[in-house]
Amino acid sequence: MIQIDYKGHKIDALLISSPANVRYLTGFTGSNGLVLLTPDSMKLITDPRYGVQSRQEVKQAKVLVAKRPLWEAVVSTIKRKKLRRVGFEQERLTFGEHKEINEALPLGHYLKPIGPVIDTLRMVKTADEIARIRQSVNTNSDAFAAVLKGIREGTSESDIAADLDYQMRRHGADGTAFETIVACGDRTALPHARPTHQKLGANELLLIDMGASRDGYMSDMTRMLFLGKPSQKIRSMYARVLDSQLAAIAAVRHGASTRQIDLRAREVLKAAGLDKAFVHSTGHGLGLEIHEAPKIGKKDSTRLKAGMVITIEPGAYVEGLGGMRVEDTVLVTQTGCEVLTPTSKELILL
Ligand code: ZN
Ligand code: ZN
Repeated sequence: MIQIDYKGHKIDALLISSPANVRYLTGFTGSNGLVLLTPDSMKLITDPRYGVQSRQEVKQAKVLVAKRPLWEAVVSTIKRKKLRRVGFEQERLTFGEHKEINEALPLGHYLKPIGPVIDTLRMVKTADEIARIRQSVNTNSDAFAAVLKGIREGTSESDIAADLDYQMRRHGADGTAFETIVACGDRTALPHARPTHQKLGANELLLIDMGASRDGYMSDMTRMLFLGKPSQKIRSMYARVLDSQLAAIAAVRHGASTRQIDLRAREVLKAAGLDKAFVHSTGHGLGLEIHEAPKIGKKDSTRLKAGMVITIEPGAYVEGLGGMRVEDTVLVTQTGCEVLTPTSKELILL
């Protein structure tokens, strides 16, 4: 049974509504499910479309297949079990869901917003989760390698993205972790460029940011490529971004604060005059979702723990010249970290 501090939160039960948290707690992968937790029970409530699937997937929770809106079934359980104070994840329950449940609750029962309880538990991964992330990371890198051979002058961003998505599936992914980012030439200066029909030209940069979802677990990697012979300016900018990524990785260990890691990445870029060109945070946790706690940014002070899986992805974006980012998926260990991504970090010359 999952450990939740009901007393500390002053609640009798906890209502979980985010699909990733529902999956984490029960193994249920359907799109419509709520979990009601009490100190001695866990109940998954879903609809008849998921009757068979929920019985197959859910081993550690009672399953209720409701023929009415899920929240109605939740309210009757709350009443029957006399659960007065029901905590909910304020970042996750929608305003509409909250309103429906709240209006149906009888007098003396109420919903109480609490912080990201399950999300916090999810930060430190179990051995089984780490094994799945490893597989996802390898699937992603294999797909990247398979597509690399076919990229040449004139290949469009969207063709490359389509090939990457296809190869991820062919290598065992159940989908992509997010919409694959492919940008060439000047467009690399847009950190989250969506693939267009723009074609890769001679002497141009190419940025690929991709992730697989495998067995529900995500991976995330960014690599830089160049078609032709890069100028000294491009080479040295790449070297600085890579230095920054390596420095941040070297700072990752159990007990280090996320802010410290972010600072390391920034210091290196600052020495090269590129700190203003680094417009996002250094990384993020990942697991069942592509962006999970902790955030590795300026304002975050989570202490890293062994078993967390995070990305390290500093970048620099200069309008007119281009943008670069290097990103790996990294496992925090007691003494440092293990970079899970096997793909080489050299600037790949096509
Ligand atoms: Zn990424
Ligand atoms: Zn990322």
